[in-house]
Amino acid sequence: MKIAIIGGGLAGLTAAAYLSNSPDTEGTVFERSPQIGGRAFTYEKSGFTLNYGAHAVYGIDRHTLQNMENELGLQFQSRQVDKRKVVYAKRESLTPAPLDFVNIVKTEVLTGMEKVRFITEIAAIIGHLHQLKKHRTLGEYLEHSQASQDVKELWEHLVCSNFFISPEDARQVSGEAIASYYHNLFLSGRPVSYILGSWSTITNQLRSKVEANEKWSIALKEPVESIRKENGKYILKTKTREDLEFDQVVLAMPVQQVTKLLETTPWNQAIEPYKNNTANEVLVYDIGLSKIVSRPFHYISDMDNKLFISDVSATDHTVAPSGGQLLQGIAYLNDDALSDDEKKQYLESKVQQMEKLFDTYYPGWREVTEVKRMSKKAMVSSVKNIVTNRLLPHQLPDVPLYFCGDGCEGKGELAERSFSSGRAVAKLLLSRTGTLTH
Ligand SMILES: Cc1cc2nc3c(=O)[nH]c(=O)nc-3n(C[C@H](O)[C@H](O)[C@H](O)COP(=O)(O)OP(=O)(O)OC[C@H]3O[C@@H](n4cnc5c(N)ncnc54)[C@H](O)[C@@H]3O)c2cc1C
Repeated sequence: MKIAIIGGGLAGLTAAAYLSNSPDTEGTVFERSPQIGGRAFTYEKSGFTLNYGAHAVYGIDRHTLQNMENELGLQFQSRQVDKRKVVYAKRESLTPAPLDFVNIVKTEVLTGMEKVRFITEIAAIIGHLHQLKKHRTLGEYLEHSQASQDVKELWEHLVCSNFFISPEDARQVSGEAIASYYHNLFLSGRPVSYILGSWSTITNQLRSKVEANEKWSIALKEPVESIRKENGKYILKTKTREDLEFDQVVLAMPVQQVTKLLETTPWNQAIEPYKNNTANEVLVYDIGLSKIVSRPFHYISDMDNKLFISDVSATDHTVAPSGGQLLQGIAYLNDDALSDDEKKQYLESKVQQMEKLFDTYYPGWREVTEVKRMSKKAMVSSVKNIVTNRLLPHQLPDVPLYFCGDGCEGKGELAERSFSSGRAVAKLLLSRTGTLTH
């Protein structure tokens, strides 16, 4: 079976690593950029290891990466973010983030009775008994809830930070998606960890797996421009080659790019319901400092302005040179209804809020900045997980192609959905052709 995988991000590389493990396959991963990784692309600058997208892994002990570690023999180490060093800033004061029972007791975000209420809510989530899952959205649940304003604000803020979205969008996330996400996270012994050495620790191994099979290759700087089906085969045209013939095609890219590629094909109609999906975007502000200016905590979430800063190097020491510090600021964006000029101003105001947060907790950062990187609109998830959007299934009726990526159905959120959907698509393909090895 000769397979084309379009997209060399986490999803495409995962699918390729599983498929190339089978002796009965051959194939090519087409990637339009000069490097692998997609939005999990890692690069080195002045001794700092930077990711385009961050490499925090949520609930690693229950994560798809555990399956991949066992099935593909991946080797990686991870380190947990110290929960005692995670703080929330609310109306200028700092307090432990209520992430576990110890922090809930200590936090000032909630009063005594609210803490009891919140602990009961967590217990109900763990026991699959929480009412939230019966509500269409978080907003509807909060409207019916008798909880205090602070508990409601906390729910909204948690969803905001775990789903990387604005408070307005947080209210549009389905109750079921939230209940299942937190069920998994609260049962995890390791809620937030970093893969030591960034995403490249994973992507380089996936690449080696693929290239270990001589019937497989990774074609960089080779965007696929069109696909057609002729006599039961798929014919691909890329920027540099024509008439490349395959038995199966996997589209491992954001749904926005899938719709473009399929626009002039007979499958355009089937993709129509997914065309209006919206992505979630954030402003990212990374700074690499030549020395540690301050380390009051490892993560601070500003509840009032919906920004956070991770001291990435406090957990993953490999990403900064000795004695240096790597901070990543992220602002959730909500600029849907704005004109171009207003958007510009809105983004500028976010940059200023972020710099103010750096000034407050990392004084002196400007003088020792070695590396600075800003993305004013980085796509975190190609399909925002709100009820009006629809995740793409691995296969669509009457479309003989396969789909994977963070905008597809799968376990978890963000990168986990890329891994889980890439793995699922590979298993589906192998099982259909009778070459499933796991
Ligand atoms: C700022 C930021 C922070 C994040 N933080 C986290 C986090 O802490 N934890 C987490 O789990 N996730 C995080 N994410 C999300 C995570 O990075 C993504 O979910 C994941 O990388 C998506 O992988 P993918 O393979 O699905 O898609 P992509 O990475 O988008 O891969 C698709 C690939 O397809 C290629 N492509 C597209 N069209 C074509 C074509 N026609 N021909 C050939 N190639 C093509 C693209 O170049 C790309 O390389 C973050 C993302 C961002 C941006």
